[in-house]
Amino acid sequence: MSDSRRLLMIPGPVELSPAVLAACAVPPPGHLDARLVEAFGSALARMRQVWLAPASSQPFVVPGAGTLAMELAVANLVEPGDRVLLVNTGTFSERMALMLRRAGAAVREVTAPVGDAPEAEAVARALDELHGGGPVKALVATHVDTSTGVRIDPEPLARLAHEHGALSIFDGVCATAAERFAMADWQADVYLTASQKAIGLPPGLALVVAGERALSARAARRAGPPPAYLDWESWRPIMTAYEERRPAYFSTPATGLVLALDVGLDEILAGGMERRFADHERAAGALREAWRVLDLAPVPVRPRLEANTLSALRFPAGIGPALIGRIAERGVTVAGGLHPALHGGYFRVGHMGYVVQRADLLRRTVEAVAGALGDGGAAVDARAAVAALDRLGGA
Ligand SMILES: *Cc1c(COP(=O)(O)O)cnc(C)c1O
Repeated sequence: MSDSRRLLMIPGPVELSPAVLAACAVPPPGHLDARLVEAFGSALARMRQVWLAPASSQPFVVPGAGTLAMELAVANLVEPGDRVLLVNTGTFSERMALMLRRAGAAVREVTAPVGDAPEAEAVARALDELHGGGPVKALVATHVDTSTGVRIDPEPLARLAHEHGALSIFDGVCATAAERFAMADWQADVYLTASQKAIGLPPGLALVVAGERALSARAARRAGPPPAYLDWESWRPIMTAYEERRPAYFSTPATGLVLALDVGLDEILAGGMERRFADHERAAGALREAWRVLDLAPVPVRPRLEANTLSALRFPAGIGPALIGRIAERGVTVAGGLHPALHGGYFRVGHMGYVVQRADLLRRTVEAVAGALGDGGAAVDARAAVAALDRLGGA
């Protein structure tokens, strides 16, 4: 990352590591190229490791963004008339609700006020109630809602779904590879993300891992196959072939990004997944201390709900969205608000992937935010904020 460029601290796309950047800087290979075949096969196996997924699960790498990853889950698993329980924690849950309804599902939502998340007990009650009226096809939730910075605990939800014979589907687009998720241990059925968030790649890949029960549900579909590009059965033989180190063709893979994916996943796995989760937790904890010193209150209403991948921060009294431009003038790009109920009242700082190991970049971010608050007339102690960050250690 060159110093003349603004530091990109939004909840995706993210800053790339030097190794990923280098992998992106080679001419894209053909889809039959031996290097691509090797990288593709290796990346698929590494996805299972990053997802902590069972050997029987199927990873899918499809050109597209996170919304495509969501659509891949919905299109394959949800049929008209299916009863689905959606844990709604913000804007991306709303997007999921839209997709589920377009797929013909009868969607029951469990909600909470903005910045909060329903307790597992409330989800259990709703699931029992829904189950009373007939089988429930799926329980769907967003691991980290990027509009509010709220993180749910997927583990009890995955278990509840399993107990009720329902599939559990988690949107991990702002979480996968940064927030703890143990697909095999929790018996979760689908966990999906996109390349430009905590995976640490440029945008362009939809990444989905489907467990055995989800694959069987697709195979047992009564409503006819989903659109060909979305159909897991179109892609599955391709994924199998590459994992066996044979090239195959259904639709052109994003070959350059697949090379980078293998490098990025290798970096993620280098220290082990627990280390990876701990790195994000440490960086987020240090940033939270700095925000506290700067009087920036989080949108999540309880500490346990605060994601480790981004901070959603309310503007202090007398400061508005102009702050974002002043932060940019100081060399750091942060994001505005997204949730309509909070619009204009908060901003978001992404901290996932490469930057969590770069104390200097986290410091630069805190200095830019503190300086911009000062420019806006707030009485802030930038040195104390940086000291709080350093105490907990960016790295
Ligand atoms: C970013 C995001 C999406 C959408 O991903 P795109 O790549 O923008 O389509 C979906 N869900 C969550 C939780 C996200 O953070």
